[in-house]
Order: sequence, then C-alpha cells, then structure tokens
Amino acid sequence: MRDKIKEIKAEFQIELSRVGTVRAVEQLTIKYLGKKGPLQELMALLRNCSGEERPLMGKEINILKEEISLLCTQALEGFTQAELKERIEQEKIDVTLPGRRRFQGKKHPIYLLRDEIITILSSMGFSVQYGPDIDSDYYNYEGLNFPPDHPARDMQDTLYLTKDFLLRSHTSNTQLRVMEKQKPPIRIIAPGTVYRNETISARSHVFFHQVEGLYINKGVSFADLFTTLEEFFSKLFKKPVRTRFRPSYFPFVEPGVEVDIHCTACSGSGCRLCKHTGWLEVAGAGMVHPEVLKNGGIDPEEYSGYAWGMGIERLAMLLYDVKDIRMFTENDLRFLAQF
Ligand SMILES: [Zn+2]
Repeated sequence: MRDKIKEIKAEFQIELSRVGTVRAVEQLTIKYLGKKGPLQELMALLRNCSGEERPLMGKEINILKEEISLLCTQALEGFTQAELKERIEQEKIDVTLPGRRRFQGKKHPIYLLRDEIITILSSMGFSVQYGPDIDSDYYNYEGLNFPPDHPARDMQDTLYLTKDFLLRSHTSNTQLRVMEKQKPPIRIIAPGTVYRNETISARSHVFFHQVEGLYINKGVSFADLFTTLEEFFSKLFKKPVRTRFRPSYFPFVEPGVEVDIHCTACSGSGCRLCKHTGWLEVAGAGMVHPEVLKNGGIDPEEYSGYAWGMGIERLAMLLYDVKDIRMFTENDLRFLAQF
C-alpha cells in the first residue's frame, strides 16, 4: 500500500513537471483528484488493510491528496498569471499608432456659398430676410406687376399647387412682404430655394437657389445698383471684376437689365466658358417698378429702389468650375468632399 502511494506521488510529480498551461493543470487535477482518479482507487483498497494499518494508510492518502491539491492550485495560479501577462503583451495598445479617421459631415457647397454671399452682402449693409417657399400667386406674380395671363409668366415655368398657391419661382416673392412690414430705407437680401417646372439637364433643374437683393430709399439710382454689384462680385471672386448691364425685361423692374461680369476664366479675352464673348451672365436686375412700390405701400414719387436676383448654383458653377448643375443634387461624396 505504501509503495502504491509513493508510486502515485512520483507519477504525479513527473506529470506536473510536464504541464505548461492552465488547461493542462485543470486536466491533471481532475485526473488525480477526480472520482475515477488513483487516489479514489486507493481509498477503495483500504478495505483490504488490517485494522491497525487502515487509519494510518487513510491518513497518508489524505496527506498525498492535500499535497496534490496544493501543488495543482499553485501551478494553476502560476500559469493563470503567466497567460494573463502574455495576453496583455499581445493585446497591448500601441498609443503611437495613428488613429482611425472618422468621416465628418459638413455643409453642402451651395450652402457654403450662400453663407459666403450673406457674409459679403451683410458687410455691405444688407440684412437677411426669408420668404416662404409656398406662396400665393399675388406675392410671386400679380403684386410684382405680372397680371393674370401676362406672357411674362411663361418666362418661368411655374409649379402650381392650387389655382392660387404655388412653389415660388423666384426669391422676388420676398419683396412685397418686406415692403409691407418695413418703411424705407429698406436694404435687404433674401436667400432661398426656388422651383421651376423644367426638364432636368446639365444647365437647368426643377429647384435651385437664389439670392434676392433689394434697396429702397430716397434718390436710389442705377449707378448705385451698378457699383453695389461690381463691389459684390469683386469680393466674391476675390479680384477686381468688371461688370456690364445689358437691357432686358422683367415686369417688376423698369428699366430691367441682365448683369454680366468679365469672364472669370479668360478675363475677357474669350474662351469656351464664356462662349468666346468674354462675358458671363450672373444676375437679373433693375430699378423697382413704380407699380410694385405702390403695391408695397411705398410712394414712388418719394422713393426709388433697385433689385436684383442671382442663382447660387450658377455662381457655384463658375467659382468651382462645375460643368453640370445636377452634381449639386446627386449627393456623390467624391464630389461633395472636395468643398
Ligand atoms: Zn472666357
């Protein structure tokens, strides 16, 4: 019996010296101390011992059992520590590695440009007003000197919601609303979205953005309009920009003009962008029609004013050399991320 105990102890020590992992120690513990282990077998053999020997042998088996248990626990702790240390080494975070960049959203190029336009014109004394996208025929047309069935209404293919209400076709719908609320001097800009029933193409869209400008005071002249726009476009293009007016017709101004600037690409010598004319059309403008002033409750004998409207997409295409207006609405991140 004693030999058997020594034999088991020796075998255990050899096996323990060979294990190298937590898992292996656990298996060894079960093998020696489990119900089918050699120690249990020894306990069963105690029956064959004589009465005197039995308690002695039982005690020795228990001593061995405790010894094995202690050694297993120590080995287990040792390997657990070692494996933990190894894992920490492997999973160590290298704080010197560059971080992963997160994609960051930003403003749409049209709104970036709108903000820049607002900043420039605010610095020139204009305050910002907003008109509604859905408006009555009166504010969009009739009050602005477009009588019903007037052929000028066909210049802007309008999206009517009902007989009397429509999606505004220009930001000029803000003009009368401001005049009704405010007495001259009025010096405002009105940025916003406008809507047209147009076929979508590289140069036209069903919605785009405009900025309206309106100045009403005593003695406002055409020269004021000219110098204001020339100063504005020079600030926007960050270089002196030459401006010219061409006679044109809009019912709510008299006289009306198209505003051209010297081509930003060729400075006037002629290129593909300006179709070899040296000039680019950038706005429609004119002196506010006396009928419109009257509709706004302003005496045209006492006051005069100018107004202009310009397309933000049009300016963005010139500033950023974008050939197709649809790029602004397609939400292609490769395009948008460039601004
Ligand atoms: Zn040109």
